[in-house]
Amino acid sequence: MSIQVFGIPVSRGVAIGRAVMVASSRVDVAHYFVGAERIEAEIDRLHEARNAVSAELEGLKRELPPEAPHELAALLDVHVMLLHDESLVGAAKVWIRDRHYNAEWALSAQLEVLARQFDEMDDVYLRERKADVEQVVERLLRELAGQAGAVSGLSAGGAQAVRDFAGEDPLVLVANDVAPADMMQFKRSVFTGFVTDVGGRTSHTAIVARSMDIPAVVGAREASRLIRQDDWLVIDGDAGVVIVDPSPIVLEEYRFRQRQSELERARLNRLRHTPAVTLDGQVVELMANIELPADAAGALEAGAVGVGLFRSEFLFMNREGALPDEEEQFEAYRDAVLALQGLPVTIRTVDIGADKPLERLSQQELRHEHGLNPALGLRAIRWSLAEPGMFRQQLRAILRSSAYGKVRILIPMVAQMGEVKMIFDALDRARQQLFDAGRPFGQVDIGAMIEVPAAAMLINRFLQHFDFVSVGTNDLIQYTLAVDRADEAVAHLYDPWHPAVLQLLQQTIAAAAARGRDVCVCGEMAGDPAFTELLLAMGLRSFSMHPARISTIKQRVLRADTRLLRSRLPGVLASDNPAQAWQQAAPSRP
Ligand code: PEP
Ligand code: MG
Repeated sequence: MSIQVFGIPVSRGVAIGRAVMVASSRVDVAHYFVGAERIEAEIDRLHEARNAVSAELEGLKRELPPEAPHELAALLDVHVMLLHDESLVGAAKVWIRDRHYNAEWALSAQLEVLARQFDEMDDVYLRERKADVEQVVERLLRELAGQAGAVSGLSAGGAQAVRDFAGEDPLVLVANDVAPADMMQFKRSVFTGFVTDVGGRTSHTAIVARSMDIPAVVGAREASRLIRQDDWLVIDGDAGVVIVDPSPIVLEEYRFRQRQSELERARLNRLRHTPAVTLDGQVVELMANIELPADAAGALEAGAVGVGLFRSEFLFMNREGALPDEEEQFEAYRDAVLALQGLPVTIRTVDIGADKPLERLSQQELRHEHGLNPALGLRAIRWSLAEPGMFRQQLRAILRSSAYGKVRILIPMVAQMGEVKMIFDALDRARQQLFDAGRPFGQVDIGAMIEVPAAAMLINRFLQHFDFVSVGTNDLIQYTLAVDRADEAVAHLYDPWHPAVLQLLQQTIAAAAARGRDVCVCGEMAGDPAFTELLLAMGLRSFSMHPARISTIKQRVLRADTRLLRSRLPGVLASDNPAQAWQQAAPSRP
């Protein structure tokens, strides 16, 4: 029977494919596909983990003190029995063999299947045994995490393997939540769409999905419970609807829409190398947001005139153990700079914390592990200033990359004047260290992200220190409206059109322009065509967005006349309902 699940549309278009479920687990679980050549080794890993856990449990039982309640010994027996039950490890092997899942993913997928079976049992005693299976799986996952040979990342062979097993069928990923670290692995993967139970319009999962330019729906609450492995799904990324098991008529309608949007994309692509100039001759800079150096080529291909935001924190994720050292970071930044062939690359220092933890944690785990409100905690520049050695190391790596092209440094989440001094002191020391070591580096402009209302309100003071500013509207909206950008429960309150948000944006753009400083918007508003004209009216001439959005925004720019747009602005800023006022002030089309 066909059902519909509603969520928040975050990445446009239509995806049709079979569901691949990614189960959530209390333990940090990596999800990746293993190549055909590694299947047997992966099954061996699982066997080794089972044997180790079995020995551990037997040992625990042997060492139980005589006064221990005898239920405890019985419980350990149950766990050993479950461990050797074919429905657990035996079935997980099937996931590895048939689906090419890594051992951890296979186990958590099988746990999901068993958990459903337990939930459906009438007998209360049996139903409660679900917790035992969960504990056994948790032990296995911990054992696997500590094993040598655990691989992180999707190998090229693995990507091919999953294509082979899926045959012609496209695949859609369905999960309660996907940690940003996992999302980066899936970025190089084969999924044609994403559905998650949690998340908001500008949560990082949504941002990465958009950067992959594939349809995605987040905040679909019950999706991972209602959808089963292998179900056929249609993701309507424009409406935020997931249709499970669609009828042939519905499927045909969506296939038609899919073809239409492919044609539209091809048409827009032709604008790739057309300069973005408005009807009244205003030159507009359309730049790219990237997450990895490998994205730089796609940015050029899409017609970007530079990188307006390189989210360097993604280099720090998906790592077993040590964080990237200066050399590794330098190579990554240099590669991006070289790929841009002389165009500017704006490298943001790490924005770790909040919904981008170093560890692979889901939103719920994040809140649990990192206190109630990580977005107000040790995040971004606060984290860097708390780790001065690491901060200088990153600054040195970025400065060194400036010997290969035009580089700008962008500091995230600046809010205090005291931070400004610490940032420039750190920069002075980093430069001095490079100078003493005889390492070359060039002239680098330093910019601040304006994404905390305090910084927007004190913009003139910040502009005394920084060469340029870039408005992070994703966070500016979150902090101005006190609405967690990753929480689907308050997603309806996350409103870029809110008069307070527009006022802060307008003030920031006007203040930078008055001082002759560059100002860019690099939050998701910059890549949303609904705001292009409004931002142009405010005087913005530099936008940074996912490369896939550049052609769409360029089309808007080419049709705009900033003189007419400017005249619409005062009424809109004064209105209680700016979205409506902006529409009403539009000249009626003949
Ligand atoms: C923003 O906050 O708008 C921004 C661009 O930064 P991020 O989305 O990475 O927090
Ligand atoms: Mg931000």
